[in-house]
Amino acid sequence: MITFEQCQQWDAEDELANLKSQFDLPQGVIYLDGNSLGAKPIKAMDCAQQVINQQWGTDLINSWNKAGWWDLPVRLGNKIGQLVGARENETVVTDTTSMNLFKVLATAIGIQQQHPTRKTIIAERDSFPTDLYMIEGFMALINQGYKLQLIDQPEDLPQYLDEQTAVVVLSHVNYRTGYLHDMAAVNQQAHAQGALIIWDLCHSIGAVPIDLNGSNSDFAIGCTYKYLNGGPGSPAMLWVHSRYQTAFNQPLSGWWGHAKPFAMDVSYTPADNVRRYLCGTQPIVSMSLVECGVDIFLQTDMQALRQKSLRLTDVLIQLLEQECAGYDLTLITPREHLHRGSHISVRHPHGYAIVQALIARGVIGDYREPEVIRLGVTPLYLSFCDIWQAVQHLKQVLVSQEWAQPQFQTRRQVT
Ligand SMILES: *Cc1c(COP(=O)(O)O)cnc(C)c1O
Repeated sequence: MITFEQCQQWDAEDELANLKSQFDLPQGVIYLDGNSLGAKPIKAMDCAQQVINQQWGTDLINSWNKAGWWDLPVRLGNKIGQLVGARENETVVTDTTSMNLFKVLATAIGIQQQHPTRKTIIAERDSFPTDLYMIEGFMALINQGYKLQLIDQPEDLPQYLDEQTAVVVLSHVNYRTGYLHDMAAVNQQAHAQGALIIWDLCHSIGAVPIDLNGSNSDFAIGCTYKYLNGGPGSPAMLWVHSRYQTAFNQPLSGWWGHAKPFAMDVSYTPADNVRRYLCGTQPIVSMSLVECGVDIFLQTDMQALRQKSLRLTDVLIQLLEQECAGYDLTLITPREHLHRGSHISVRHPHGYAIVQALIARGVIGDYREPEVIRLGVTPLYLSFCDIWQAVQHLKQVLVSQEWAQPQFQTRRQVT
């Protein structure tokens, strides 16, 4: 039995509790959607002022050199690299996760073209759809008889891996269920069959410890606007293991990826490092803000954050069972820590309306088809009392059937 007093006690003992003070969250809001759009670091405003007024307004074009705009994608990539077990200069911040998937997929397929019988790309049916759409688009473009094999359960992967597998594209943490893959084990299975692997880290970067080199991964991509708190639509990260950095030219061969961009050559020569994954001029204002979010992570470490995240999600699961039993909620997130990310998803036939009723009460989670109430648990700015209060609100919404009110039934554009 967990009590409110117990939650207060845990908060008092929590060594990470002070990190919350670095975020600007509205009064009265319990924010359970940091896995979709991270909260605003207080420093973001100062950073924006500096970039817009000083670097752009005053220093104008000098800032490409003076403020380090030209090197920003790699400098930030190296900072984020510290959170994911990257070596120096293996990571860049650029473009969107969708576009970065296209680039690393092209590289992986390019490398595998030395094995003409490897024509299968494996992904999960339950992938975040953009990954599947980008794979489809890429296959149609190259038109070389590749086929996309979708798997229905994460555990099914080994039986689909064979000598025809070229590339495996997986989400480290599933956006809907919160299932966490064992990265090292899966890499080993894929490599044993000669396949290359691309990890989508959107729901795991900043949420769980990641060791891309230690686990012997090949490629990774991921968002900075979710757990990393980079701001709406902030550019994504892309990581390529050193062994593949110069193995293939990714096809979006824009001038930012050229070996000598200012030589203004007629033909393309790719940079001999991870810069070749840059395409055109970067969104400097938005990219600059990524640093404010990442710097907060560098004040602690992913192991400590993971510990707190697991405790918070344990407490959330326990409280859902203790307080909301008998109201038709079904947990779809794995209970084993080895396979749990940092959000908790429960199904309910009226999931959409329940989420709307919670938002009206200041408890912001989100909804994903089918019937899934998704509650993001960000250890940087959530407390045990927040979890307690969120569950109390949910209980009241369920007990009083508040969700049945007409204003909670209409679907908005973004759910
Ligand atoms: C959020 C998310 C994306 C988003 O991709 P964008 O190109 O930034 O829109 C991709 N993959 C996964 C797994 C996600 O959770």
